[in-house]
Amino acid sequence: MIDWPLMQIDQQKCVACGNCIPVCPMGAISIDASRGRASVNADECVECYTCFRGMSMEKLNPTLVRGIRRILKAFRLRFDPEPDVCPTSAIIPDELPWPRVVRRAFSDPIVTHESTGVHGRGTEEVKTNDVTGRVGVGEVGYVVEFGRPTVGVRFREIEKMTQALAAIGIEFESKNPVTHMMSDRKTGKLRDDILNEKILSAIVEFKTRIDNVPAVLQRIDEVSRTLDTVVAVGVSTRCTDDGSSALDSVLDQEGFAYARGKTNLGLGRA
Ligand code: SF4
Ligand code: SF4
Repeated sequence: MIDWPLMQIDQQKCVACGNCIPVCPMGAISIDASRGRASVNADECVECYTCFRGMSMEKLNPTLVRGIRRILKAFRLRFDPEPDVCPTSAIIPDELPWPRVVRRAFSDPIVTHESTGVHGRGTEEVKTNDVTGRVGVGEVGYVVEFGRPTVGVRFREIEKMTQALAAIGIEFESKNPVTHMMSDRKTGKLRDDILNEKILSAIVEFKTRIDNVPAVLQRIDEVSRTLDTVVAVGVSTRCTDDGSSALDSVLDQEGFAYARGKTNLGLGRA
């Protein structure tokens, strides 16, 4: 039982119209038909605020709406509000204490991460490499992404990967929100108090020399098969002047299917 403040549905106001159910990316809202009220599964809710922010809040009287719905039902008719509306403003966000607030920081795209000053997943990855120079010549940058809408991820799953990567000598990118959640960057250990927190998704970043790519990708592949979430991996490197990249042949040789997703043309350079 979770008894701290979180995204809630006011049981006095909810009229069980069901409009908020498809809006939730985690399927965390359901209606108890016997009570005629919707509620949030606090363990599955990632505090993304989509239900609160994504719907218009109207202020109809709940007793009146329930009465109208009951009468119409007797005539096999329905009164349903517009699909993007909570007719009685029943969805109420509350102040989130630590560690619950971590859910929102990693799941609400408009919240800026304090550790990096970037919103969303809190990192610009190598998209800004022309300015940051994070990944140098002969190096490869990695983004390992955990979770997706409808699946999510708990930090304890991410920790299994960060500890496995630390064990093969990986040093994590310091300007990254997951790295900021580590109590020991050398071992990839995350703070104990956040391990059970569930979030929509997160990205772990680091870089190695290009020679290390096969061993690193193999380790990621092994660990990701044991995790209770989905994992996507991006690798990036600097192209030569003719647009080719030494990374392509390494990936081909190791049998990894890939597609060039993003090309940074260097237009951000001063
Ligand atoms: S949209 Fe509002 S009234 Fe309708 S089920 Fe959700 S919380 Fe209840
Ligand atoms: S805050 Fe997000 S995850 Fe939680 S109930 Fe609302 S939409 Fe669903």
